[in-house]
Amino acid sequence: MVQPRRVHAQHWLKSEQALGSILEAAACHENDRVLEIGPGTGILTRRLLPVVGGLIAVEIDRDLCKLLTKQLGERQNFLLLQGDFLEIDLSFLLNNFPAFQNPNKVVANIPYNITGPIIEKLLGTISNPNPQPYESIVLLIQKEVADRIVAKAGSRAFGALTVRVSYLARCEYICTVPAKAFYPAPKVDSAVVRLTPRPLEVAANDPKYLETLVKLGFSAKRKMLRNNLQTVIERDRMTQILEQLDINPQSRGEDLSVEQWVRLGNELKELSNA
Ligand code: SAH
Repeated sequence: MVQPRRVHAQHWLKSEQALGSILEAAACHENDRVLEIGPGTGILTRRLLPVVGGLIAVEIDRDLCKLLTKQLGERQNFLLLQGDFLEIDLSFLLNNFPAFQNPNKVVANIPYNITGPIIEKLLGTISNPNPQPYESIVLLIQKEVADRIVAKAGSRAFGALTVRVSYLARCEYICTVPAKAFYPAPKVDSAVVRLTPRPLEVAANDPKYLETLVKLGFSAKRKMLRNNLQTVIERDRMTQILEQLDINPQSRGEDLSVEQWVRLGNELKELSNA
């Protein structure tokens, strides 16, 4: 057994049930090229390899890379890249490996200390979405973050992250994975989520503006939107606009659906241009 290192947020998954849920959610087949971030000792990697056309794994830990190369290096459909996923230019690196270019899916139990940045690198941002979106992204992450990603409007977990992620992808909560499914057990429970990138039905006319608005709108928690956005628009005018959009003027940021956020952004942007 390879001893996990805390610096790289290493927690080995050991639950057969959780592995099964991840694999089922990813529904991989032989035409898929899959990206795995943080293969660790390869528990998920070993299950993916027999079913996918190609598997690209990015692992930061040199010792684990040696181990994986020794154990799985012979597999024709396996490419292991040693490095920090957040730093590497994946498509540039893959230019050297034609059989592994343009992965279409992501399947991973990721390091939890960098969940936000990983999701942002995979999806891009509202104003700069990934130009080559993945077909699907199945991740094992902290339950608390999963709850925020899939939160419904009006719930406490709904926040800027909810808007940013669901603007870019359909988000599904697949299942909860208890802390004891890992060695060593993390402090928190985990969950499997599936993100399916797609354009939202209503598009932001000015994505950069929407991004700023969302940030401002959630800047002070539990505050009414018209108060949080006072720097952008005068309160009384804001009340009118919210009413016009069929939104309760006393709403807080978390009360608006993602679509309502986009409509509000479009409306306010138009006013600021007028
Ligand atoms: N997928 C494995 C390991 C999960 S632990 C399992 O399910 O058992 C997280 C893994 O991500 C570890 O192997 C860790 O070394 C790796 N890791 C941490 N930071 C990383 C980074 N920035 N880039 C790539 N891999 C990273």
